[in-house]
Amino acid sequence: MIIIPCLSDNYSYLARCPRTGATLLVDPSEAGPVLAAIDAHGGRLDAVLCTHHHPDHVGGLDALRERFSGLRVYAHHEDTARIDGVTHALGHDDGFTVGAMSLRALHVPAHTSGALSYVLDETAVFTGDTLFSAGCGRLFEGTAAMMNRALNEVLGALADTVLVYPGHEYAEKNLRFASMVEPESDAIRERQERVAALRAKSAPAVPSTMGEERATNPFLRVARPSVQRYARERADDIAAEDPSSVLAVVRAARDRF
Ligand SMILES: [Zn+2]
Ligand SMILES: [Zn+2]
Repeated sequence: MIIIPCLSDNYSYLARCPRTGATLLVDPSEAGPVLAAIDAHGGRLDAVLCTHHHPDHVGGLDALRERFSGLRVYAHHEDTARIDGVTHALGHDDGFTVGAMSLRALHVPAHTSGALSYVLDETAVFTGDTLFSAGCGRLFEGTAAMMNRALNEVLGALADTVLVYPGHEYAEKNLRFASMVEPESDAIRERQERVAALRAKSAPAVPSTMGEERATNPFLRVARPSVQRYARERADDIAAEDPSSVLAVVRAARDRF
């Protein structure tokens, strides 16, 4: 996986099929770094996978469509009106291939209504602004219940070993928040140390794994007594056994963090 830092803290990702050379790009944030990465890795591009329509995720798309004729552009069918040049509109659990790489789209509306995550060969997942390292996206076009379903049922069905490639480098701040929610957690403390070492040399703190997220990400831990306790201390009228209510309180606290 080629990780391409873009803008201030975005990541685009380039994956090249080892068998056929076919190449896909996830979230063309901006043209410059993305085109440079493509040129450095074979100069070929077959498909663009859009996780959602926000400009920091599709800002480089026009330049790619100009350069590569016949480029396939994938997005959720709700986003065809707000992303220019979509050629393949997807629904939940639609599959497709790029060379010998197999992809599966998961519809995870919450950050935006057309948000998709893409599972690559059942070993990696591109999560855009839905699941971040130790965090989740803001609720712009959905509810806490929708984010809970996205994180803990849809993405929650992925195996612990699946690598997580999110749309932003938010690990440090998210882990600072996570350590406030669960101050007793050794897993969070250890992950903070690993992330700090990577960021000290300006290396990406991605990917993580689904297992690591389940151990350290408060939004994947809304059914845990420790996170429920944190939520109840902030809103004593919530039903602490309801994961969506807990997620709403934790998300609101993260918004103010
Ligand atoms: Zn976004
Ligand atoms: Zn974003």
